[in-house]
Amino acid sequence: MLTYKGKSVFGGIAIGKIRVYSKGEQQVKRIKVDHAEDEVVRYREATAAAIAQLQGLYDKALKEVGEANAAIFEIHQMMLEDDDYCESVENIITTQKVNAEYAVAQTADNFAQMFSSMDDDYMKERAADVKDISERLVTILNGKETSAIDAGEPVIIVADDLAPSETVQLDKDKVLSFVTVHGSVNSHTAILARTMSIPALIGTSLPLDSSIDGKMGVVDGTNGIFYIDPDDEILDEMMQLREKEEEKKRLLQTLKGKENITLDGQKILLYANIGNIKDLATVRQNDAGGIGLFRSEFIYLEKDQYPTEEEQFQIYKTVAETMAGKRVIIRTLDIGADKQCDYFEMEKEENPAMGCRAIRICLTRPEVFKTQLRALFRASAYGKIAIMYPMITSVKEVRKIKEIVAQVKEELKQQGIEHGDPEQGIMIETPAAAIISDMLAKEVDFFSIGTNDLTQYTLAIDRQNIALDDFYDPHHPAVLRLISMVVDNAHREGIWAGICGELGADLELTREFLAMGVDELSVSPGRILPIRKIVLETNVAEYKENRG
Ligand code: PEP
Ligand code: MG
Repeated sequence: MLTYKGKSVFGGIAIGKIRVYSKGEQQVKRIKVDHAEDEVVRYREATAAAIAQLQGLYDKALKEVGEANAAIFEIHQMMLEDDDYCESVENIITTQKVNAEYAVAQTADNFAQMFSSMDDDYMKERAADVKDISERLVTILNGKETSAIDAGEPVIIVADDLAPSETVQLDKDKVLSFVTVHGSVNSHTAILARTMSIPALIGTSLPLDSSIDGKMGVVDGTNGIFYIDPDDEILDEMMQLREKEEEKKRLLQTLKGKENITLDGQKILLYANIGNIKDLATVRQNDAGGIGLFRSEFIYLEKDQYPTEEEQFQIYKTVAETMAGKRVIIRTLDIGADKQCDYFEMEKEENPAMGCRAIRICLTRPEVFKTQLRALFRASAYGKIAIMYPMITSVKEVRKIKEIVAQVKEELKQQGIEHGDPEQGIMIETPAAAIISDMLAKEVDFFSIGTNDLTQYTLAIDRQNIALDDFYDPHHPAVLRLISMVVDNAHREGIWAGICGELGADLELTREFLAMGVDELSVSPGRILPIRKIVLETNVAEYKENRG
């Protein structure tokens, strides 16, 4: 048995097989072969296997995300059968007498270069596709599984670190837990683990070689321990602990359907944070009163080109309809910092967290912003959608947004396209926004405090830097004072203020937030019932008296 310590980002116990997740890039060597015809056969067999894999992915995507999103797998199948592509691979194998892997990789490079140099935007985008299909072929030729996505049974994902663009590709039903060597408590992998309510550890210094792949693992998310090949005693103990956790969850289920009201009659809204349509099931299971933060940038991260207005409209409409009249706050794209999207082709920055991200991208690329706004305004005719803008620092930005929104509404009207009139709010996640929240409150319908970034910018601590996790203190009085100030300023102008950063789920602060008069907490779905329990047991007046 091997034991490793890690930092817990979500509690609970996971028991299952380990899958080492490695990045997609593969090294391909050029190897001379004696029998080129055998390599051609290997190549043809790999093509058939790749087409079968893609058919499986197409069927799955069709059910989960609809025909428009599934179409890409169909396109990839066709590309694999393309005459020019096949001829090129077979020609390299037979004329150069080399291995199939090399011929595929070489063809991928040649075709990708050719596509990229074309004038037609559609053809340019095919460069990424040709690389993608070729990587699939090379993986099959190497005899490896494509990735954890194709794992047959739920597994514990062990990785160096996972970028948001990688986590979005994981089949969430197949993930029992995340264990990473790097990453930080506030990284989006950590946030994803909380959204999925699965145990996760970061900063676990374990070897990432294939020797642990497929072995039995146990993640003790409560105590921050990862066991590989656990002995019977540990396995027994962990199974008992897991049973206890399940029991706790069952007890919390009895709170479903209850109002979030304190003993002395103060109410609070408990909403859920989501990043994906698939999270809606847990939102409902946990009895959320609405969605307080839909991180729409994940729609962009899942794709290798800008999502169209229609694609976005379908997603927002589905969320609005599924939530059946409950408030759904959709945040406009917060790309940048750790959430990088290649096709945005952003300049490399020294300090991306302080660089061109979120609303700064939207205001400098109004065409991208307008596409999302059109989709949001159209979808708001189908439910109670609210729009929220991230990374605001000034009144000027809000006014600029309003101008663009007015243009979008006018255009929709001119085109006779149905749309709603959603509430519009902003995230308070920069110290600047918090400090001028009295001015900003006059401009918008609501505030939602993003404590992840607010802590990072207030304390000047990079939220991604695990070495600084001990300094990253969201309980710092500076952060708490800013929150309290924002809530007061919101109320003075008659608007509501919530918290959608991770701090909102901190059970040690629930009573304090009630005392501050916070109107809404938006948290990962699994946190809603534990917070409701505290709310129901709290007397706010008494709490205020006792804390002085
Ligand atoms: C925040 O900063 O608190 C927030 C909710 O936004 P994100 O974590 O997506 O940056
Ligand atoms: Mg933020």
